[in-house]
Amino acid sequence: MILTKFVCKSAPKVIVNTRFITRFKNARTFASAIHNYKDESLKKLFDDLKYHELFQEKFHTQKYGLFRNEFLVDSSTGFQKLTDIVLRHSQRIVKDLLKTDGTNGKFIVAEFDRLSDLLCSVIDLCEFVRCAHTDEKIIAQSEDAYNRLFNFMNVLNTHRGLYDKIEQAVRIDKTQHQLGEEERIIADVFLMDFKKSAIDLEENKRKEFVTQSLKSATLGRKFFNNVVNRIQRYIKVPADELKGSNPFFSRTVLNEKGDHAYIPVNGQEGLHALINIANPSLRKKVYTESMYAKPDEIEVLESYLASKAELAAIVGKKSFADLQLSDKMVGNQDNVLEFLHTLASNNLRNVKSLSREVSRFKQQHLRLNELPTLDPWDRDFYLLRMKEAYARKLPSLHMNQSEIMCHMSVGTVMQGLSRLLNNLYGLRFEPATTWPGELWHPDVRKLHVYDDSGNVLGIVYCDLYARDGKGDGAAHFTIRSSRQLDESSSRDAELLGFHLDKRVSTDGSSYQLPVIVLSCNFDKSLSFAGRTCLHFWDVKTLFHEMGHAIHSIMGCTKYQNLAGTRCATDFVELPSILMEHFMSSPDVLPLYARHYLTDEPLKKEALENFIRMENLSSAFDNQRQVCLALVDQEYHSSNVIQPTFDSTKVYEEIINKWSGFNAVPNGAWQVQFGHLYGYSGTYYSYLFDSILANKVWSKLFAKRPLNREAGEKFLNAVLRWGGSRQPWLCLADALDDPRIAKGNHEVMETIGSWDLK
Ligand SMILES: [Zn+2]
Repeated sequence: MILTKFVCKSAPKVIVNTRFITRFKNARTFASAIHNYKDESLKKLFDDLKYHELFQEKFHTQKYGLFRNEFLVDSSTGFQKLTDIVLRHSQRIVKDLLKTDGTNGKFIVAEFDRLSDLLCSVIDLCEFVRCAHTDEKIIAQSEDAYNRLFNFMNVLNTHRGLYDKIEQAVRIDKTQHQLGEEERIIADVFLMDFKKSAIDLEENKRKEFVTQSLKSATLGRKFFNNVVNRIQRYIKVPADELKGSNPFFSRTVLNEKGDHAYIPVNGQEGLHALINIANPSLRKKVYTESMYAKPDEIEVLESYLASKAELAAIVGKKSFADLQLSDKMVGNQDNVLEFLHTLASNNLRNVKSLSREVSRFKQQHLRLNELPTLDPWDRDFYLLRMKEAYARKLPSLHMNQSEIMCHMSVGTVMQGLSRLLNNLYGLRFEPATTWPGELWHPDVRKLHVYDDSGNVLGIVYCDLYARDGKGDGAAHFTIRSSRQLDESSSRDAELLGFHLDKRVSTDGSSYQLPVIVLSCNFDKSLSFAGRTCLHFWDVKTLFHEMGHAIHSIMGCTKYQNLAGTRCATDFVELPSILMEHFMSSPDVLPLYARHYLTDEPLKKEALENFIRMENLSSAFDNQRQVCLALVDQEYHSSNVIQPTFDSTKVYEEIINKWSGFNAVPNGAWQVQFGHLYGYSGTYYSYLFDSILANKVWSKLFAKRPLNREAGEKFLNAVLRWGGSRQPWLCLADALDDPRIAKGNHEVMETIGSWDLK
C-alpha cells in the first residue's frame, strides 16, 4: 500500500544576510496603479489582508470540518469516528474479496484499490495534520488514528488470503489477458508490496514481519520527531571573541550587558553565524558544536536503520536498499552507487577548483604567503566574501535586495504561476470559497484550478507561511487524488464524510477533484505595504511545490494508487525540478516579478545575477547532495546490522572521501538528516531527477519556454499518466528517444554522462 506524502528538499539557498533587509511593515498603502488584469483577484487574495474575507462563507449556519469533512466538525471525536468507519468498511471489503472467485481479475484489482484508498485517505490526512495543524488535541487524535490504521494495514500486507487473490489474478492474466494496462501495473504494485511483506513465508515469519514493521515505524517516527523538535544549541563566549565580525550580527547575539554572546549553532541560524563570525577559532567552535548529537539520538537513528535492515532480512533481502530499489527506475543499489560515484568524482574536480578560488580570499584576509587549506568552517564565511567581490563586478542594477523583493509579492508570484501554467497547459487559478471550519489556519488560502474550457480540475490550499509548531521546509500533500469515480468509490468518499467534488471528462467519465495542500515556510513579516514579498529562492521553492501540485492534478487515472504523484519515487521530482527551470528563465520572469505599485517587470539582470551567484557555489552544493545520497545508501546497506556499524564513522568516511573537506572527528550531523525517514535509500532521486529535468528542459523548453506545444508534449508524455505508465516510457516519449525506453544499464550510463545543472 502506498503512502503519498512528499516532503521536499527545499530549493538550494544562496546565503544572504536576510535578517537586515529593510522592512516596510508600517509603510502607508499607496493606491495601486496596476492594470486591471482578469486574474487581479488571485493577486489580491494573497496581497490584500482583507480581500480573502470576500470568499468566506461566514454567515452559513452549518458547520463544516477540516477540508469540509463532516466527521472532522467535532474536533474531540472526529478522527476516532473516521477511523472506526474505515476499519469497519475495510473489514467488509476484505471479507467480500476473500469470497470472490480468483478468476475475476478486474474486480479484485478494483477492490484492492478501494481498500488502499480508504486506509490511505485517513493515514495521509493524519500525516498532514501532524505537520501543519496547530491544535494539540487534534494532533494527538490523529496520532492515535494513524497508529490504529497503520497496524491494520500491516496486517493486510501480510494477509495470505488476500495475497492469493491478487497472485491468482496476475497469474491468470498472463494467459487470458483479462486486465487492462493500468490494472496490470497496479496488480504488480500490490503483488510487489505483498512480497515485500513476508507473504511467501510461514505464519510465524509473517507475524515476525508485522511486529518488526511496527517497531521500525515507531523508531522512524521517534527519529523524525527528534529531528523536527531539536532544540537550538548555543555556545556562550566572551564578547571580545566577536571582534571583526559583522556588527549587525554581533548585536543580535550579545547579552544585555554586552560582555558575552550566545551564539546559535544549528540550522539556518548556525549557518548565519558561520558566515558572519570573523574569528576562525570561534567559527570552528560553532561548526564543531553544530555536529553534536546526544548519545540517545545516535542510538535511535542506529536502531531505526537496523530495524529496517532486519525487516529486509525477514523477506530474504540482503539490505533495505535492496528491498526499496527493485521497483524503482534505477532497479538496484549497484546502479545507484555507480551513478553517484560517477557524479561524485566528476564534480570533485569542480569542488577542488572552487576551494582553491575561495582559499584565495582566506589567504588575502589573513595576509598569508601561501594558499591555506580551506577548513569546513571557513567555507561559508569566505564563500560569502567571494560572492560579495563577484557581486561588485556584476552589471550594476542600482537596486538593493528590498527593491528586488518589491517585485515579488506573494500575490504577484501566484498570479505569475497561473499565467505560466496558462501558457503551458491552458490552466489558471482562481480564489475559491471557504466554509466555516474548513481551514486549519487563517493564513491558508484556497484556489480552484480551471482548464481553458472553464472546468474546475482541482483544489489547492496554500499554507505558505512559517509558524510555531509547523514542520520545517516545504511539502506537498495529496489529501484527495484525481482518480476516476465509479459507484463504489463515490460511495466510499461519501462514507468517509468528504464533500464529493467531481468533474465529468469529455468521454463521460467522472473524476474526483484532487485536493492538494502546498505547505511552505516563508517569512510573513518580510512585507512591503502589507504585502508579504519573497526572495528568489522562496519563489524557486514555490515553483517546485507547484510542479508537484500540477502533477497531482493532471495525472488522472482509473485507480487512486496510480494518480498524480503516485509514481516511482525516483521519477516524482522530475516535474517539480522542471518548474525550477521555468523560474530561472528570463522569458518567464515578467510573469511573476512585477512591482506591486507600478506593475513594472523586474529587470532581467536581477534574475541573471541571482543565478550567477547561485551557480558560484553549485559545486559545493551539489557535492553535499551527492555525499548525503551516498550516506543514505550506506545507511540502508547490509552493513548496518554488523556489530561494528557506527553511523558516525560512516558519515565521516564519506565526507572525507568525497566532500572535498575534512570531516570533524566524531561529528554526528547524521542525526539531523531528517530525509532518512521517508526517503530510506531513495535520497539519490533528487539528483537523478535533476539530471532528467535538465535534459527535458533543454529538449522541450530552453529555446521557447512559454510554448503550449511543448507544454502539451510534456503533459501527454509525463504528467497525464501519473504512475500508470513505466517512467522510462514517459521519458523516452518526452525526449523523442526510443532507446531510453529500455531503461537498462547502458541507458543508466548515458544518463550519468548528462549534465547536472
Ligand atoms: Zn519535491
